[in-house]
Amino acid sequence: MKILMKSEKTKKWNETTLENFNSAVEITRDIIIEMNITDRNAEEYEKGYALGLLKSGRIIDTPVMLFKLGEDRDTNKCPKCDNLYIGMGALSRRDNKTNICPDCGMREAIEDIQKFNK
Ligand SMILES: [Zn+2]
Repeated sequence: MKILMKSEKTKKWNETTLENFNSAVEITRDIIIEMNITDRNAEEYEKGYALGLLKSGRIIDTPVMLFKLGEDRDTNKCPKCDNLYIGMGALSRRDNKTNICPDCGMREAIEDIQKFNK
């Protein structure tokens, strides 16, 4: 798995380590709890949870750095939104054969529920 990090200072995406990612999210969680910041959810910065979000293609933001997946042999690219993700993803409900990212899979499911309820 390749993890990219963008710092406020360099404004460029550079490769970083899982250890760096884990310590940045841990510090962020501690800051949210200690400073009682209410517009952020501390649970999203729990170690395993943040990693799960990263693997599903989310950009994880911490006070001074952003993290996202980099493209390598572990990643899949979603044909709907071009996001990279690791793992199974979801089977598109539109054709039942295309693999898409978890977020797009959720979006399609919600679209179908909304259609069903009309
Ligand atoms: Zn997608």
